[in-house]
Amino acid sequence: MVKRRVDVLVLNSNETLTLDSHDSETGLGVIDNGGVAINQGKIVLAASTDLLERKFRSRRTMDAEGEIILPGFVDPHTHLVFAGAREAEFQRRIEGASYMDILSEGGGIIETVNRTRQASSESLFQSGRQRLDTCLESGSTTVEIKSGYGLRDDEEFKILRTIHRLKNYHSCRIVPTFMGAHAVPPGEASSEYVLSVIDEMLPQIARAGLAEFCDVFCEQGAFDSLESGRILGEARRLGLRLKIHADQFTDSRGAELANKLHVTSADHLVHSPGKQLERMAETKVTPVVLPSSSLSVLTGENADARSMIGLGLPVALGTDFSPSNWMFGQLTVAALASRELRMKASEIIRGITINAARALGLEKRVGSLHVGKDADLVTLRVPNHSWIGYTYGERIVDNVLIGGKWVVRNGKRTL
Ligand SMILES: [Zn+2]
Repeated sequence: MVKRRVDVLVLNSNETLTLDSHDSETGLGVIDNGGVAINQGKIVLAASTDLLERKFRSRRTMDAEGEIILPGFVDPHTHLVFAGAREAEFQRRIEGASYMDILSEGGGIIETVNRTRQASSESLFQSGRQRLDTCLESGSTTVEIKSGYGLRDDEEFKILRTIHRLKNYHSCRIVPTFMGAHAVPPGEASSEYVLSVIDEMLPQIARAGLAEFCDVFCEQGAFDSLESGRILGEARRLGLRLKIHADQFTDSRGAELANKLHVTSADHLVHSPGKQLERMAETKVTPVVLPSSSLSVLTGENADARSMIGLGLPVALGTDFSPSNWMFGQLTVAALASRELRMKASEIIRGITINAARALGLEKRVGSLHVGKDADLVTLRVPNHSWIGYTYGERIVDNVLIGGKWVVRNGKRTL
């Protein structure tokens, strides 16, 4: 048999998880002792090492002996571009201050807004670049990034342009989201600010093509469901896809609005009523659950991921990296999801790959090792997939490929 020449062969893994099977029990598509053939940045075949060696020869071979291979992780929810940090506020939260009280006093998000407005585009770009390197070294190959620390048209533009510069420059796949409705700027009435988001910011951002999604913080003390609905409705009219921060601290009718608008994803869902979660099966809203965020606000309250899974919803997991929740890695999220949400390894793996891709509307392009998809994958130094969620994720990422390009080797970013 004449062997077909491909760019890369990844071989000899303990397990290759394609996430592309109709294996009804786990949906993981586990191939024992297998690997992946890659050509021109796309998946050609995921199969046993034996079959791959018989069918292909390659310019480069990567040995994944003793490891497992998965699709690159997708992080569907971050606030990664901002200046400063909020470690002092975290100490106050430990002493009992609440996140929303700190925000209403002009701290929290507003503190970060003040720091970010003072920062140059260049410094935002440089800190963003370093943070994305850490995402990559943690196995994430696609990262969504929200604006929302500008709260003024020129400043929201500055952040979105920085996200675009990162998108063009960095190996990570980046999905930009406009979140002007992240908080009400101090001294402004929310009704007034909502008008400026709708009349000034959204049309300019849509015209400039600076965002794929629009997101809002639908919460008491931020934007109510009526205001959130007006912003999202206008965003959709202008061609943006929709996300919502729903019911993080209270039932703010965020999940209800998500269902009404058939948004792509509804995130947090800590206080959403069961009947709204049930409706998500029909409205095709992807629920995004953020256990590290729940832990960082120290309320001790989590989304009911088990019920969502019981309803058959494709539960996605994200980091919610932000100055209030300083964490980058989906493997750490996995560790929290198993302990805090009682999610099993198979559910977590779907949550950080194919379901997270669905939360970004990218399920046809990434999130599984399906033939023809982008060759984004990660190799982990663990013997089998039940280690995901079991380990806290330290130093187990070995290699990361994006579009067939080797971007992390031996756990370190290649340059
Ligand atoms: Zn968020």
